[in-house]
Amino acid sequence: MKSILSFVFILTIFSASKAQTNQDIINLVHSDSLLLTVNQLTGEVSSTINGSDEIITNREYQNNDLAADYIIERLEGYNNLTIEDQAFNTSGRNVIATQLGKTNPDDIYIICAHYDSVADYCADDNATGVATVLEIARILSEQCLDNTIIYALWDEEEIGLLGANYYATQAALNGDNILGVLNIDMMGYDGDEDNVFDIDVRPIANSVDMATDLENLLTTYTFDLTSTVVNPGTTASDHSRFWNQGYTAVLVGESWENNDQTPFYHSSLDRTSTLDVSYFHELAKFIMAYMVTKGNLVDVDNSVSVSASDISSNDTSGTYQWYNCETNLPLSGETNQVFTPATDGVYKVQVTSGDCIEFSECVIFSTLGLDEFDSAELRVFPNPVIDEVEVSLTSTNQFEVNLYDVSGKLLKQLEDQSDAVQIKMKDLPSGVYFLKINTLDKSSTIKLIKN
Ligand SMILES: [Zn+2]
Repeated sequence: MKSILSFVFILTIFSASKAQTNQDIINLVHSDSLLLTVNQLTGEVSSTINGSDEIITNREYQNNDLAADYIIERLEGYNNLTIEDQAFNTSGRNVIATQLGKTNPDDIYIICAHYDSVADYCADDNATGVATVLEIARILSEQCLDNTIIYALWDEEEIGLLGANYYATQAALNGDNILGVLNIDMMGYDGDEDNVFDIDVRPIANSVDMATDLENLLTTYTFDLTSTVVNPGTTASDHSRFWNQGYTAVLVGESWENNDQTPFYHSSLDRTSTLDVSYFHELAKFIMAYMVTKGNLVDVDNSVSVSASDISSNDTSGTYQWYNCETNLPLSGETNQVFTPATDGVYKVQVTSGDCIEFSECVIFSTLGLDEFDSAELRVFPNPVIDEVEVSLTSTNQFEVNLYDVSGKLLKQLEDQSDAVQIKMKDLPSGVYFLKINTLDKSSTIKLIKN
């Protein structure tokens, strides 16, 4: 009983938080997640596209449909997005994902990057920008926002900013109320390691105010970065096509102004190994700060608390529907703030407040009659994990280990007759996982963080 109580206590600490703050959201930007996307997009590693294992060998404009398919499939994996595969000529395809604002759907902020390249690899130019847009989409799509965010990945930047030009022209014709366009192009190189980056701006619409808003974030939150505002900034990337239509826009990226851009520019030597990962990660977090501030979080608390007998939503004013994470189906009649599961399992709650619907993360509820392992008996190391985690028990060498993702999906099941089980985590995305370790008379569930 003592051990069960300590387990419940730990889970409660993990989950008993208020609705997420901007800082919480910024902290969710993971460097491993960014790097995995860069490596997949540049063909350093394979990725699953349309159900098969593929290597994206090139993203030149006449040869980058696989990269577009990859981007679409990634965005389709996120909630609350409407995705458009926008063909604008015989070879050009923009990918546009829209997350509609709950309060002001007509007030639009765009985060964008071009995904085409001039050679093989081209990690810095501009897989870094694409990875950042996808990382921000992964995180923000879980949140209700007051304003609309458009995640845009442009094609044919390298042959004349064609994709962005098409989109900006259409938007102006439609009278779209675009309040800010944040274009990111090359954001992973910092040769002199001074953490300086550029904000390129021109006095068009509210672009100068947008640059000021961005600089203010450097003091509102903590970043290991120093900005240089370049005015008049370069027109040599997609944001300038929005300037041409009179829209507010800036470019954020590594410091061309200080001549500290990648020496491998526009060549197949521009590879992941040449990036400064901490600089890239810091800039991605900074860009997230701008997007979450402008999107503006709707104050819904999608966290939950787990006790020995029930799970409760920490939100107090909404309506509730509990789900079984393993089937992803709603549980009939389970619509109270507090849910008492009839059986052990993995559960989440849908909280509805006005027009806003958010899901909690999945939590494991376990009141099996089995005792838990005590801390001296069970070793899970390392946690957080990067490549491989090892599970061992001092009391027995006959045990079973189940690895679940945060949705409760069983990823791996290993039984062992030796002293320890090693589980490879290298190819799994960053985030929260659960390890459930069973013997005949004991069972424990451990929250495992993959970085
Ligand atoms: Zn570029």
